[in-house]
Amino acid sequence: MSRPFAEVIGDPITQSKSPLIHGFWLRALGLEGDYRRAHVTADALAHYVAERRIDAEWRGCNVTIPHKLAVMELVEDPGDIRGTIGAMNTVIRQKDGALIGTNTDAAGFYAPLAELDLAGAPVAVVGAGGAARAVLFALARANVGYVTILNRSPLKAMGLLATFGLKGEVVALDAPLPPAALLVNSSSLGMTGQPPLDLDLSPLPDDAIVYDLVYAPLQTGLLKAAAARGLDTVDGLDMLIGQAALAFELFFGAAPPEGRDDELRALLTA
Ligand code: NAP
Repeated sequence: MSRPFAEVIGDPITQSKSPLIHGFWLRALGLEGDYRRAHVTADALAHYVAERRIDAEWRGCNVTIPHKLAVMELVEDPGDIRGTIGAMNTVIRQKDGALIGTNTDAAGFYAPLAELDLAGAPVAVVGAGGAARAVLFALARANVGYVTILNRSPLKAMGLLATFGLKGEVVALDAPLPPAALLVNSSSLGMTGQPPLDLDLSPLPDDAIVYDLVYAPLQTGLLKAAAARGLDTVDGLDMLIGQAALAFELFFGAAPPEGRDDELRALLTA
């Protein structure tokens, strides 16, 4: 018998932790439904979307590398994600077959920072890819001050400052850090299989926060160096769980269970 399902699509996809997260919540709530992994190459994306659009059991999908930009051309965009964040990570199927694209990364990223007042605060962001777009969108909404982007491709990063109306500059990856209140790594550097992110954290003030979006490994070299300096840190699982929680509610119509994050983190790091 068929039952409602959602999935995560990407290429590669075996590394995705989304099935573990959504599966944990489905079981915890006793909801009928599945959350799967689908390997979809760039060439097959349009076919995948057309096929799922006519499947009434399909609630939607999360979208990961390399489809976050391409999928915007294939779905409806009532929230103007194209004109704002510029990358989609979630597609929801309406009962009539309409597909709505959205982005839960920005809110997921910001959730662990929500209690802070970042207005006017100088921040530094490493990276200028899809994740950086969500980060910069959220930081612009928080009215942060001067933004220093460290990125391999400077032009791309300059474009993002302009897109999000941020005052700041772009510097090379090996430039000295500014005295930022918040340092975010939104690049792939430090991820398993990628080069390390070697930053000298000494210019950061003692109350700075270091936030790494990379969650494989969870304790990245950057977070270890920040902890060694006594700085507060936020790891990539906070954002991963935060963005998944918003998507889960959109797919399955129920909020994830409360008070189970420690159990979920243990499952994700086992
Ligand atoms: P992306 O669009 O491919 O962007 C990758 C970024 O990393 C770009 O800025 C790229 O620089 C830089 N980069 C990659 N390889 C590099 C290298 N060898 N040397 C220097 N710079 C390099 O990827 P993304 O979607 O933004 O994802 C970036 C990271 O964030 C990944 O580790 C992903 O797992 C993580 N992420 C985590 C969450 C979460 O929920 N925790 C959510 C989304 C993403 P160029 O601009 O020069 O190409």
